[in-house]
Amino acid sequence: MKIIVCEKEYSIDEKVTNILDILTYIKINLNNSLAFRYGCKSGVCGSCAVVVNGVEKLACVENIDGNTTIKPLRRLPSIKDLVIDSSNIKNKLMQAEAFLKEKSNEKITQENIDKIDLQSNCILCNSCYSSCPVFDINPDFIGPFALTRAYRYLNDAKELDSKNKLDAIQKTGIWDCTLCGACSLVCPQNIDIKMDIMNLQNMSIQNGYENPAFSSSVDTFGGFDSNINFGFNPNGF
Ligand code: SF4
Ligand code: SF4
Repeated sequence: MKIIVCEKEYSIDEKVTNILDILTYIKINLNNSLAFRYGCKSGVCGSCAVVVNGVEKLACVENIDGNTTIKPLRRLPSIKDLVIDSSNIKNKLMQAEAFLKEKSNEKITQENIDKIDLQSNCILCNSCYSSCPVFDINPDFIGPFALTRAYRYLNDAKELDSKNKLDAIQKTGIWDCTLCGACSLVCPQNIDIKMDIMNLQNMSIQNGYENPAFSSSVDTFGGFDSNINFGFNPNGF
């Protein structure tokens, strides 16, 4: 079968069907300069995500049965061949405050864990970032996986700093998402990122924020009333 990797065509024995095996075969036998990343080889580390026939996939768990095009993740700078530079995405996690900031001593129940279990399974594969069309017009968008992580920490019973977390995702965050759902479709962990962003929008409205697209009284995000009675309740929606 014909395999095109980064615009270069290779002929591969049909017995090899796993994408990572194919890339390894090409590197050993046909092009030893081909660059790609992998780690666990079992769909856990998220480092081997590539675009297969136009859709983001983990190379180590994806099998093919015919001619195939393999490209690097989209909307991220390329370092070489299938290796992308994801350093900027880590900045977006910081921007979204998608981490535990002020830790409470509250005892964690199974119910608390269940609320954040799915989002905690994110393997940082960058597939959702690659699929998101908003980055084509707004590179400053916080983006899907940083927002789904923000949702995870907003619902974390250990987090005491929920108000600031909700503040952090207003500008270039939840309201810039078009809710197209592309990110949810490609997530290998089945995280419904679009739904998490919708929940963050609902949570924001319930806590006094407004969608700037529908607001006549707010020109910029800096216009929010800092004296607002926040009354944060992540369980309130
Ligand atoms: S739902 Fe939002 S975050 Fe996800 S791909 Fe679409 S615009 Fe991007
Ligand atoms: S949310 Fe899903 S698609 Fe996005 S980085 Fe995490 S595991 Fe990958």
